[in-house]
Amino acid sequence: MLELHGLAVSSGVAIANAYCLVEPDLSFEQRTITNTDGEIGRFQQAVGQAKLELQEIQALAEKKFGEEEAAIFAAHLLLLEDPEFIDGIILKIQSGLNAEYALHEISAMYIAMFEAMDSTYMQERSADIQDVSKRLLAHLLEVEIPDYSRISSEVIIVADDLTPSMTAQLDTKYVKGFVTNIGGKTSHSAILARTMGIPAVVGAKTATQSIKHGEKIILDGTFGKVIVEASPKMFEYYESRQRAYEQSAQELEKYRTLASVSADGYEVEIAGNIGKPEDVEKLIEAGADGIGLFRTEFLYMNRQSLPDEEEQFVAYRTVLERMQGKPVVVRTLDIGGDKYLPYLKLPEESNPFLGYRAIRLCLHEQEIFRIQLRALLRASAFGNLKIMFPMIATLEEFRAAKEMLLEEKQRLLQDGILVSDGIEIGLMIEIPSAAIIADLFAMEADFLSIGTNDLIQYSLAVDRMNENVSYLYQPHHPAVLRLIKMIIDAGHSHGRWVGMCGEMAGDDITIPILLALGLDEFSMNAATILKARAQISTLSKEKLAAHTDQILRLSTASDVEQYVQEFLLG
Ligand code: PEP
Ligand code: MG
Repeated sequence: MLELHGLAVSSGVAIANAYCLVEPDLSFEQRTITNTDGEIGRFQQAVGQAKLELQEIQALAEKKFGEEEAAIFAAHLLLLEDPEFIDGIILKIQSGLNAEYALHEISAMYIAMFEAMDSTYMQERSADIQDVSKRLLAHLLEVEIPDYSRISSEVIIVADDLTPSMTAQLDTKYVKGFVTNIGGKTSHSAILARTMGIPAVVGAKTATQSIKHGEKIILDGTFGKVIVEASPKMFEYYESRQRAYEQSAQELEKYRTLASVSADGYEVEIAGNIGKPEDVEKLIEAGADGIGLFRTEFLYMNRQSLPDEEEQFVAYRTVLERMQGKPVVVRTLDIGGDKYLPYLKLPEESNPFLGYRAIRLCLHEQEIFRIQLRALLRASAFGNLKIMFPMIATLEEFRAAKEMLLEEKQRLLQDGILVSDGIEIGLMIEIPSAAIIADLFAMEADFLSIGTNDLIQYSLAVDRMNENVSYLYQPHHPAVLRLIKMIIDAGHSHGRWVGMCGEMAGDDITIPILLALGLDEFSMNAATILKARAQISTLSKEKLAAHTDQILRLSTASDVEQYVQEFLLG
């Protein structure tokens, strides 16, 4: 038995076969062939298998993402039918080369030819040839190229890392959890695991080396463990843990229809975070009081071009209508950092988290931003929309974004298009500079939403994705708590409501502190909502408030955690 340890980022237990998303070894040697007919037959068989595989992937992609997005696979299929390409390889085999080497020679020639062309479109076609050649080579070498979009039985994904766009594509019908070598507690793949309600462990360092594709493993997302080659007793133990987990979830059911009120009658809003319109269903099931964060960048991912105004309008309207008048806070495009769009050719940066991202990009690429703003404004007529801007560092940025929003509103109104006149406009406070002048923002914004995932990263200068420094990623660091208090007080002194949509809002150690500080809205993943509501119902805001001065005077994160455990949770 082998036990791997990582960061517990999404709780629950999964037991299933490992699906290793690891690049296979595609190395081969040049050989001289005497039976060239046999070799041609082997090559043609690989072409046939690749075609079948591509047809299957194309059909799947069409069903999931639409015809336009599946077009890339049609292009790959065409290449497999291109006589120049295929016959070129066959000719090489006839000259006595093995199929792998013949394929390599011809595809290298085509790749070089396309890359030398003037048009970017043609240059990009070289990537298609690379993809198709890799697929053919894998068939020739009889190795499997892992492809998460084709998983059709229950698995636990094992990978070095998962990008947010890959994670968003995982089908939870089959993917029961994941473990990665790298990653931090608030990297977006971890956040998505919580949104999807599947257990996950990240930063397990050697997962891809220690786990074999297809072997049955246990994933403990609550304690950050993965168990390989488990004994029957171990399986039994974890199966009982799975049952207990389901039962405790059932016990929380009664909070679904109750208001979010503390034991002494103080009402807050417990809202949910979503990335895609479909995520709304889970929030409704969990009885969310609203949506505190719609990460709209996910609408822009896993496709080959920007979504247009109409498509975005439909997505926003769907969410607003499903929430039936409950508040829906939509965050404008927050791309950059660990979230990137391959079709937006952005400059390579050495510090992407500090770089050209989110509102910085939107204020420059105005057309992209204005399309989103127009779609949002049009959708506002269908529900209770609030809009906020991400990564605001200066007042000028907030003013410029707000001005563009108001300009687009004017244009729509002039064209006779209905726009709600009650849209609140706010911003995320996730950069220390904005936290420190939150009072100035509160004078010009309708609300503030604290983005602790980034606020912690920037306050402690600790990369939220890096497992090597995750010990420094301290939500309860006194500096973070003092900033949170400053922001809440600044908002309240100007009569604004203050929410939190970072992961801290759903953390059971933090909730009593936030309640004591007077946070108005707690926005979290669907799976945490009922637990948070149940916890708040047992807490008295007034009693907690008596501890705030003492908590804010504590020196370290662990002192804070100990204090909360001892005096506030007991
Ligand atoms: C945050 O930074 O706290 C936040 C909610 O935004 P994201 O996690 O998408 O960066
Ligand atoms: Mg953020």
